Amino acid sequence: MTTLADPVPGGRPGDVERAVERAAELTGRGVCGIVLAYVDTAGVGRVKTVPTTRLADAAAWGVGMSPVFDTFLADDSIVTTDVLGSPDGDLRLYPDLDRLVELAGQPGWAWAPVDRITQEGESHPGCSRTFLRRIVADAGARLGITFRAAVEIEWSVGRATAPDGTFVPAVSGPAYGAARQVELSDCTADLLTALAAQGVEVDQIHPEYAAGQFEVSVGALDPVAAADRSVLVRQTVRAVAQRHGLRVSFSPAVLAAGVGNGGHLHLSCWRGGVNLHSGGGGRYGMTADAESFTAGVLARLPALTAVTAPSPASYLRLRPSQWAGVFTAWGRETRETALRVVTGTTGRRERDANLEVKPVDLAANPYLALGCVIAAGLDGITDAAPLPAEVTGDPARFGADEAAARGVRRLPATLTAAVEAFRADKVLRTALGPVLADAVTAVRLGEAAAVEGLDDAQVAAAYRWKY
Ligand code: MG
Repeated sequence: MTTLADPVPGGRPGDVERAVERAAELTGRGVCGIVLAYVDTAGVGRVKTVPTTRLADAAAWGVGMSPVFDTFLADDSIVTTDVLGSPDGDLRLYPDLDRLVELAGQPGWAWAPVDRITQEGESHPGCSRTFLRRIVADAGARLGITFRAAVEIEWSVGRATAPDGTFVPAVSGPAYGAARQVELSDCTADLLTALAAQGVEVDQIHPEYAAGQFEVSVGALDPVAAADRSVLVRQTVRAVAQRHGLRVSFSPAVLAAGVGNGGHLHLSCWRGGVNLHSGGGGRYGMTADAESFTAGVLARLPALTAVTAPSPASYLRLRPSQWAGVFTAWGRETRETALRVVTGTTGRRERDANLEVKPVDLAANPYLALGCVIAAGLDGITDAAPLPAEVTGDPARFGADEAAARGVRRLPATLTAAVEAFRADKVLRTALGPVLADAVTAVRLGEAAAVEGLDDAQVAAAYRWKY
């Protein structure tokens, strides 16, 4: 379980001693540097690195970094809000020592996610990991609910030697094809070895639908750990592929047309060690709380899209009949509604049943995405929100009347439309707090402005290697 308390200047009790020990052990193993990782509002992974010998100092006093990164765009330009985007000020990055792990795909390096606090020792209101810790802590304190979560990771593998900026798939075998699995046999085996060495349980790994696409699904953890894990897995996929002369992209749309890369979220609510998505009297074994949680997420999907699909490239992926789930509906084990109720197989439902949220991609900051989805679900529980009827089949085939009768709407088709819905959503804005909510709005509008006048192919190219 993730420590939900904020870091403090001087280090949490025991942290410095632990860091000294871990640094000695890592140094003995030839690890010379630590990657301190976080994800910015735009969804780009950013890092500072320190020599392993500085780990204890970092655990006690943090590592400096400007708050300006909260309003970076994917192209590294900066937008400003009332409080963010200024060249002034500094923050301290505190590594979470519980997550410190030697990077098997990058010999000589270890990795840890960070929380950011101010030089005055207060939590930074723009810190997405702190935001998710708070949401999880609040659910526990107020409702006695904990969560298990996982982020599916899809990526496209290209040749590192492809002409500048272009994507040339590194494999030619068919979707889910045995041939494709053989083509990337060595790299995938190395990836499995690296993930296992890092303590990441892999459920499955396979060639996916789109050109050069692969997917890995990993074991569920508490939400903060699951978000950390999604960042670590991407770092590992990228590093292992690079050692094989390959280049990977997690962009929602590496190419302008066709199926994109998703980052579906899986979430289950638990109380007293019992999965609320199984064994209840509601549909498919959901308890009343699980139904209301699902209803809460469903009701806020258009606004959530600004957080879960944050890039202009996200909207090239978010198209009907591409398994991205672009309709406000839920169904059991369906691939075309935004929400898929996963019951699991009989005999293992108590453990496996969960809610899958599909209109999420890997441009999304996973801490913001999980925090906002959970906040929406908790709002549903607080209100005992009723879950509407299930939808089966592809909603893209519904006529306008049928869609209206069932309450099925298409999710925002542009980033600007998603921001409009987000801006009008009090629940999400309140959960995020004014600083993060404004950062989300400003960064999204900045991204939208950056692609004005570009066609789809140009948008895909602009973001191809950013995530
Ligand atoms: Mg997939």
